[in-house]
Amino acid sequence: MAQTRIYMNASKSEADALFKLLDARFEEDGLPISVFEADEENGRFEVSLYAEEEDADRVFNEVGEAVATLPDPPQLLREVLPEIDWVAHSLEGLKPVRVGRFLIHGSHDRNLRRIGDLAIEIEAGLAFGTGHHGTTAGCLQAIADLLKREKPRNALDLGTGSAVLAIALARAARIPVLATDIDPIATQVAAENARLNGVGALVETHTAPGFHNRIFAERKPFDLIVANILARPLMRLAPQMANHLTPGGALILSGILERQRDAVVASYVNQGFRHIRTQAREGWVTIILRR
Ligand code: SAH
Repeated sequence: MAQTRIYMNASKSEADALFKLLDARFEEDGLPISVFEADEENGRFEVSLYAEEEDADRVFNEVGEAVATLPDPPQLLREVLPEIDWVAHSLEGLKPVRVGRFLIHGSHDRNLRRIGDLAIEIEAGLAFGTGHHGTTAGCLQAIADLLKREKPRNALDLGTGSAVLAIALARAARIPVLATDIDPIATQVAAENARLNGVGALVETHTAPGFHNRIFAERKPFDLIVANILARPLMRLAPQMANHLTPGGALILSGILERQRDAVVASYVNQGFRHIRTQAREGWVTIILRR
């Protein structure tokens, strides 16, 4: 499903006023709204609303009507954000991938394992996550870096796909990981992959859109959450991420295009997160935050 960004350029004080106006107006629709500094030198901000393609015209008109009540209404702009075909991506390349100590490989490449590797066997299939995509590799890198310095005790992998990240965490840190996905087929594949990789007892899989499942209340608080979804759902999930993470806990987000970075960081800073680092890979960014 393609998504449209409806946005306007404003000074800091105009942007604050626009945010308040639009936040109140679109609260019920639950549309994500972001404010970020588009031009630091000139102090110009962009206020954006994200709408599904089929709602874009309606939302565009409604935003127009809402801002027309202001003394100096801003010009409204719009752009269609690129669509991503997760399954096509999952079939990309079958060569093994090395990130830090992790080696992600198919069954035909078992012989490439070296001593000291944390080898994870994943077949390209119906669930996304063979390690080839820049977003998966970015998360694996962030996990590898984090585990050098600390040992989380209770982790969540939201949007687990093949469970590649959950397996990496369970294998490297020997901790329980809750692995969830909106797609029941992915959840099935995830459970099977966890078992094949010897961490069936540590990785618990559930089907859930976002945080809509009782299991989250039972298993929270988490001290590490990884979520490789997409910018828009990640922005929408920011308040619940804060609610499920311990203070000081780490959050690794990916599935974000470089130009969406500021908007995503802004939504999390609004929820009391601190931005630690952003890593780029193949046009995608992985953002590391702390609550
Ligand atoms: N974690 C894996 C897979 C990422 S692909 C990796 O890093 O490679 C993104 C996955 O998130 C897909 O399997 C998709 O079904 C799932 N997803 C998308 N939106 C979601 C949502 N709102 N809640 C839970 N899962 C979601």
